[in-house]
Amino acid sequence: MIAPPPLKNDCFSLPPGHHWTPVDEALETLRARLRPVVGLTPVGLNDALGRILAEDVRALRSNPPYANSAVDGYGMRMADVEGDGPFALPLADGRAAAGQPFGGTLTEGHALRILTGAMVPEGVETIILEEDTRVEARQIAFHGPLKPFSNMREAGEDVAEGEIALPKGHRIYAQDLALLAALGIAEIPVFERLRIGVLSTGDEVVPVGAKAEPHQIYDANRPMLLAQIAAWGFVPVDLGQVSDDREALQTRFDQASERCDMILTSGGASAGDEDHVSKLLQDTGSLSLWRMAMKPGRPLALAVWNGVPVFGLPGNPVAAFVCALVFAAPAARVLAGADWCTVQGFAVPAAFAKRKKAGRREYLRAQINSDGAAEVFKSEGSGRISGLSWATGLVQLDDGARTVEPGDPVTFLPFAAF
Ligand code: AMP
Ligand code: MG
Repeated sequence: MIAPPPLKNDCFSLPPGHHWTPVDEALETLRARLRPVVGLTPVGLNDALGRILAEDVRALRSNPPYANSAVDGYGMRMADVEGDGPFALPLADGRAAAGQPFGGTLTEGHALRILTGAMVPEGVETIILEEDTRVEARQIAFHGPLKPFSNMREAGEDVAEGEIALPKGHRIYAQDLALLAALGIAEIPVFERLRIGVLSTGDEVVPVGAKAEPHQIYDANRPMLLAQIAAWGFVPVDLGQVSDDREALQTRFDQASERCDMILTSGGASAGDEDHVSKLLQDTGSLSLWRMAMKPGRPLALAVWNGVPVFGLPGNPVAAFVCALVFAAPAARVLAGADWCTVQGFAVPAAFAKRKKAGRREYLRAQINSDGAAEVFKSEGSGRISGLSWATGLVQLDDGARTVEPGDPVTFLPFAAF
């Protein structure tokens, strides 16, 4: 199926006069400028996990489809059990079980054996729990009062036929498959999976497994970003690695824009001599170098190459990871057709002390200790990759100045929330 037209070249431009862009403003801009870039396709439920709905999905059948018993017990007419009792009723012949309907109508003055999940037969207006009764010689005795519809699930009480079960933009989780199946929906319209390319840049970077010369480092960003993309439910596209060379970079971008809906680069994104990513993108006229008021993270380079959005992440693995979580993840979701989503953090007591200046947001590598308080990694150095492995999420300190004392509430964002 056909995909919508590509993004405009100037879609990332910021209003002039801004020096440091607050994170929230950057996110608002992304939210306002981006839109889905992928086409639609139908998928069966078994292939639907992680996919994003391209249209509202309506129930083909109600859940439950028919009134049924919530318990193992006995069904009766209300007219036969008015008041407090005690009551004694003869048992009707037969029974109602799941998948084995009673078929007939309950005779007046009788009780009917009914099991969990059984379709409620005609005439049954209330159901008493088996444990609340005594049965002897095909007679059942119990106390009142009983209420109408007790222990019954009404048809459509969860979702009625024709109702919207899941809205457009919703990402499909395992539990959604249960809902869709229950509603008789075997196939759903989803967006094509967003393909995100990952390109590492730098003369010093070599792929792990190769031999690194003393002046070289292993490419830490590429395996991390490719894996994170897959974990988000997108298609990771390995664009390899390119040296700090304009021609090579240009060729790689051309190839990538054929195969990808979004490109993440790492390294070379600032304004230094060897920052060829930003230089090259600058010359296409589409570059916006956002100076992010955040730590970690330097400028975030945003551009459009042949209609494909390019996010130039910092080279530093810690900064690359945090920028990918904070900016690339919500942007990718919108490009992929999902609703914009704000990360849900929660307040926990700090297990640390810190003084922070005004004017930038900080993300600290953190984990929750056994007291439920947030501990932060021993170093804020952005080269300390081990802190990312140590952490289970980030503590977010907002843009204003802040003095945190142990016990003060801070916002914790689990990695899984991104
Ligand atoms: P750059 O943004 O290119 O100036 O890179 C900033 C820092 O990140 C430098 O120390 C780079 O060596 C390092 N770096 C860049 N790319 C990678 C990568 N793929 N893996 C690990 N470190 C990197
Ligand atoms: Mg570099």
